[in-house]
Amino acid sequence: MMTSLLPFKLVYHERYDLNLGPHVFPSQKFRLIYEMLLREKIATEQDFLRPHPASDEDILRVHTPDWVKKLKTGTLTASEIMLLEVPYSPELVDAVWLAAGGTILAAQSALRDGFGSNLSGGFHHAYPDHGEGFCAVHDVAVAIRKLQADGAIRRAMVVDTDVHHGNGTAAIFRDERSVFTLSIHQLNNYPAYKPPSNLDLNMDDRVEDDEYLDALVPAVQKALDKFQPEIVFYVGGADPYCEDQLGGLSLTKEGLKQRDLRVFEETRHRGIPVATTLAGGYAFRVEDTVEIHVNTILAARDVARAFPSASAARS
Ligand SMILES: [Zn+2]
Repeated sequence: MMTSLLPFKLVYHERYDLNLGPHVFPSQKFRLIYEMLLREKIATEQDFLRPHPASDEDILRVHTPDWVKKLKTGTLTASEIMLLEVPYSPELVDAVWLAAGGTILAAQSALRDGFGSNLSGGFHHAYPDHGEGFCAVHDVAVAIRKLQADGAIRRAMVVDTDVHHGNGTAAIFRDERSVFTLSIHQLNNYPAYKPPSNLDLNMDDRVEDDEYLDALVPAVQKALDKFQPEIVFYVGGADPYCEDQLGGLSLTKEGLKQRDLRVFEETRHRGIPVATTLAGGYAFRVEDTVEIHVNTILAARDVARAFPSASAARS
């Protein structure tokens, strides 16, 4: 009997694959991340939880009945598919319902263990009534609304480090005082229209590690102290990487790992649980994208080990 290796749970399902075929979105990355975690002996099967698909009730706390029906019946219009920028398939719909269930499960695990990591999700471009930019269902918003409906939390914060602005997140929670949205992204990049987050950190083209971290870390510290969330959702984009095809920032792999570590240290010192999701990652070599996502898990592990109990870390 293999024992677990991590102080928190990873959430994975083999049907996370978005079934895109040849596409700039490497939808095999979910499986490759899972396999790397096992191969490198970072995790064993014991470290994984298997999600159920989110219920339609969960999805409908965020999305309109019309959009949910279109997804489930395959009746998207041509312009809706163009905005989504991925081919429609029933497998895609299964995958995003599973991803939302996975982010719910990761968040519930985080409330118990301090961290919880969904090896999918971070579909931050999805709006209530349509999808955009490879994102059909906003898993993080679904999880926040589910935890709130269950009375598990009141206040949540989203820290979104994908190179692209978290437009769906900002739009969904624009008038919601119980959710604080922070996005650090390249200003001169998709999406063209960026509805305001509570805090937008707009990076110029080709910003490097130090400048990025100097903007992010103090902003996270200040936001955590002011807003005092009961959970943070960390949308861990791999696409601020210097060799990303859809990103225009110049972070190194080490800089990206520092990004994860520094944010997790700040949350841990304050005793705030963190649910992590993936997000974009379009490196020329898919192995780089996989490694950057795996490094987010390693950062959470290292912070959890360095500060074994959140309450001890706080004192
Ligand atoms: Zn992105």
